[in-house]
Amino acid sequence: MNRRHLLQGGLIAAGALSATGTALAADVAQPRAGARPMRRIATEEAWSIPEHMEAMTALAQQPSDNLDLVSRRGVTTGGARYANLLDTERRLAEMDALDIDMQVLSLTSPGVQMLRVDRANAMATLANDRLAALIARHPKRFAGLASFAPQDPAAAAREMDRAVNQLGLSGFIVNSHTDNRYLDEPFFWPILEAAEALQRPIYIHPRAPADTMAKPFRDYGMHAAIWGFQAETGTHAMRLILSGVFDRFPRLQIILGHMGESIPYNLWRADHWFNERRPDQRSSLAPSAIFRRNFTITTSGVEDALTLRYCIDLLGADRVMWAIDYPYQAMAPAVTAMNTAPVTEAQRALLFHGNAERVFHIPPLV
Ligand code: MN
Repeated sequence: MNRRHLLQGGLIAAGALSATGTALAADVAQPRAGARPMRRIATEEAWSIPEHMEAMTALAQQPSDNLDLVSRRGVTTGGARYANLLDTERRLAEMDALDIDMQVLSLTSPGVQMLRVDRANAMATLANDRLAALIARHPKRFAGLASFAPQDPAAAAREMDRAVNQLGLSGFIVNSHTDNRYLDEPFFWPILEAAEALQRPIYIHPRAPADTMAKPFRDYGMHAAIWGFQAETGTHAMRLILSGVFDRFPRLQIILGHMGESIPYNLWRADHWFNERRPDQRSSLAPSAIFRRNFTITTSGVEDALTLRYCIDLLGADRVMWAIDYPYQAMAPAVTAMNTAPVTEAQRALLFHGNAERVFHIPPLV
């Protein structure tokens, strides 16, 4: 089987072939043209370990109307995407076929944040050790974001230090709220302080809306990617922005997926009302000033040229990184979307790899 067959196999597996299937495959292959294609680093790629999958399955079997557990019950009954969380060989084969050089892996949502605190700490340590071992086996193909248990901020800060200084991981992942609480609370500040001191970003990844705001999301599947994930995660990010924590931690870097969880679209209005109510504000800086200084967004799950164009115009091409959101999104359409995006080649290089190299301290290719 040659590369082209593998590529088309990947496209078929991803359900991406349609009436325009041939053209799509050609788009994916197009930048090769003899030379090595532009380096491609995908930055929000989910992964798991059997112990974590088993723990979440057991949790989901308990009676609860928590929306993450409601979703998870669907997961446990099957679905190839969830098997793909554990299947490194399949992941690498598809990356090879699509010339995806590297994926930045993170433990799939909701990570360790629904486990009891001692279990959560142990699971974060185990997952980080396994992730570091996987990266050691494939150092050019994978980087990783460390898990930590926000339930125990002091232990989290210690694990964050270990993850960077002993395991060589590239940053941190947190799946929005923890027990319906958000990182702006002083309780969690040791985590923000550690990330700033270690000079590694925290990726705030979605989970379903907190129990405290769940009711309107219980119908029509609204709790998940169709609306609830960005409502939950965007709310979390706005709490950080408006709370003033970026005055206290001015060099803290946050990453949001999904083109910024709708915040870019609302940024002008947030600034307007921040200024209208200036005396009441906790932050010294307007939302857009913080968003441009302390946030980087990724394209995960949004293969839309118009949204990408808008975000680059708003934030600058050095604040946007390419991501797939594998295995919840297929790899091939995400590659095609970035290959064909209406951006300059210099911008494409930033989106595909340059920003990820800077943000995650990934060595550039020599
Ligand atoms: Mn994701």
